[in-house]
Amino acid sequence: MNIVYIALGSNQNNPVYHILKGMKQINHLNHTHIIKKSSLYSSKPLGPKNQPDYINAVIKIQTALEPEELLNSLQKIEDIHHRQRIKKWGPRTLDLDILIYNNLEINSKRLTIPHPEMTNREFVLIPLFEITNHRFNIPKFGKLVHYLKRNL
Ligand code: ATP
Ligand code: CA
Ligand code: CA
Repeated sequence: MNIVYIALGSNQNNPVYHILKGMKQINHLNHTHIIKKSSLYSSKPLGPKNQPDYINAVIKIQTALEPEELLNSLQKIEDIHHRQRIKKWGPRTLDLDILIYNNLEINSKRLTIPHPEMTNREFVLIPLFEITNHRFNIPKFGKLVHYLKRNL
């Protein structure tokens, strides 16, 4: 079994609904279940500012899905939420990013793991800290608390 951290984000059509529904759908994937869920957080949009605030959360899952299979499953869930890809960092009903997959470092065409921007994003670091601890280490990057302090 693999341990994976996933970031959820939404800022369209009842974001709380999309985040909670997304969590349920992830929990229903084959050979996958949620071990921990953060609280829901509100954040200002990245990129274009003329869009609603976001709701964000991070979950810890256990899964037998390989990284690419997991990405496929997460993108299917985004599609069920009618996620549209109009402009970079534009508004979306549901965004599911793989933050960390065991201690793997992946740099392929479709996947960069750990997520390359995670240490720059408070809306990822804070919920991740909530469900881990002060010793938590982000593969490749190092201590989570170091980045938390730098960003707060
Ligand atoms: P950002 O990645 O900066 O948060 P975004 O989430 O808005 O931006 P998307 O449009 O959702 O970007 O995804 C674009 C592509 O990113 C996806 O098609 C996927 O192949 C790729 N990708 C690379 N690494 C990851 C990852 N760790 N988790 C999810 N998608 C990833
Ligand atoms: Ca994202
Ligand atoms: Ca994404």
